Amino acid sequence: MNYTRGSDERTGVRPSLPGMQETRNGTSAGNSAARMHEFDEECDALIWSVFRYALDRIKEQPPLDGPLSAAELQALVGETVTPEGLGGVEALRRYTEHLAPASISVDHPRYLAFVAGAPTKAASVFDLVIGASSLCGSTWLDGAGMVFAENQALRWIADLAGLPDSAGGCFVTGGTMGNLSALVAARHDADRRRTEAGLGRPARWAVVAAESAHSSVESAARVMDVDVILASVDDDLRLRGGAVAEAIAGASEGTEVFAVVATAGTTNLGIVDALEGIADVCADSGVWLHVDGAYGGAAMAAPSARHRFAGIERCDSLVVDPHKWLFSPFDCAALLYRNPEVARSAHTQHAGYLEPIIDEMVWNPCDYAHVLTRRARGMPFWFSLAVHGTDAYRDAIEGTLEVTRVLRDLVADAPLLKLLVEPELSVVAFRRHGWGVEDYQAWSDRLLAEGIALLTPTTFEGGPAMRICIVNPRTTVADLEEILETLV
Ligand SMILES: *Cc1c(COP(=O)(O)O)cnc(C)c1O
Repeated sequence: MNYTRGSDERTGVRPSLPGMQETRNGTSAGNSAARMHEFDEECDALIWSVFRYALDRIKEQPPLDGPLSAAELQALVGETVTPEGLGGVEALRRYTEHLAPASISVDHPRYLAFVAGAPTKAASVFDLVIGASSLCGSTWLDGAGMVFAENQALRWIADLAGLPDSAGGCFVTGGTMGNLSALVAARHDADRRRTEAGLGRPARWAVVAAESAHSSVESAARVMDVDVILASVDDDLRLRGGAVAEAIAGASEGTEVFAVVATAGTTNLGIVDALEGIADVCADSGVWLHVDGAYGGAAMAAPSARHRFAGIERCDSLVVDPHKWLFSPFDCAALLYRNPEVARSAHTQHAGYLEPIIDEMVWNPCDYAHVLTRRARGMPFWFSLAVHGTDAYRDAIEGTLEVTRVLRDLVADAPLLKLLVEPELSVVAFRRHGWGVEDYQAWSDRLLAEGIALLTPTTFEGGPAMRICIVNPRTTVADLEEILETLV
């Protein structure tokens, strides 16, 4: 990656810093301990400046921008954390002029690398409300209203998956935390069952997952000190029940498999594993089925893709990231359990000062993940769902799938390009004839430097490749045509 960025601003509008008067309080430098929690005229000016900037950012598409080196940033920004404080005008200036442009906005329609995000305006603006309200979303006592609304949003996802009424969970920071929390609950459950059967701990615990599973599964296994048994995927890159059964049977003496992780939309290629057959094997062997739909789970809302998820209703736990393809700001991942009580017994924290909130009659989100203090991070997602309705979500996701199908055809028809896999969700992977790793990287660097797009190379079957992942309803066919034209 080339850590420079272009100055081309044709793809967006940078919010400008509104005029703000340099006065004494929040806007100016100087020791203000006595005043920093008070509201007065100067504080009012600071609030409006920040607010106007934020609103402009939400209204307008910013330029793509890009990173600078730490040395360049040091030269531009200097020291910002000082004993006296910079004052509001100066701190905001350094942010708007230097820090923000050194960061890429993932909701840019031509941010097509990794898995981007594209919050709705309603979700983005409501994020400000949640940030401004000092609400703790850990417990019913603190945040009953938040938790009630978050649970309705979770219920929509549970319904898309066909999970029973008993299903529930909470919003966590991301798929990584969701996968870890689900696997911790799964092992807790397996451990309880062994104890009840009069068995001790196995020598090793293990998770079965395909190589195409997200890196966070391996990371969770490291955190938990459990093994990952890799199951092979079929020629169509899909994990199937047969390979899962083989992997479970192949576990070495003393190793107990406590969970299978199936992926509903692999990050690299958007492949949905064969969930029905995997669920059969998990049921037969009494192993917890966790479905990682962090990226792809959103496509359950799209009628044209729903059939790919058949069998997902049989999972024991599920992760879907609204901050990827459900138009929520970071950080927001939905974590659902078929039997939430199992997760509660795995995750509830016990301490004298916490005993008053431990109450099985109410829903405490902190009981369902590796978390205690918790931002009500599902609220921007909930607000947008409440404002726009689920039909709008269905249509927006369907729209990105349609644009992906057009891109697939454009790639398949381009003489210099080779489509690598038939897209199932919204990832298109391809090669450019005659290009090596450096060519892909140089192209990717050039597109960012020219402010055209952010795309990053990947690997496929041992060789370099490009992938384009579309989760933004504002990404148009024209955007993609313009990008493909630069490949000739
Ligand atoms: C992105 C992704 C994750 C990790 O989610 P974060 O929100 O980045 O922590 C896990 N699994 C899959 C399939 C993903 O695409």
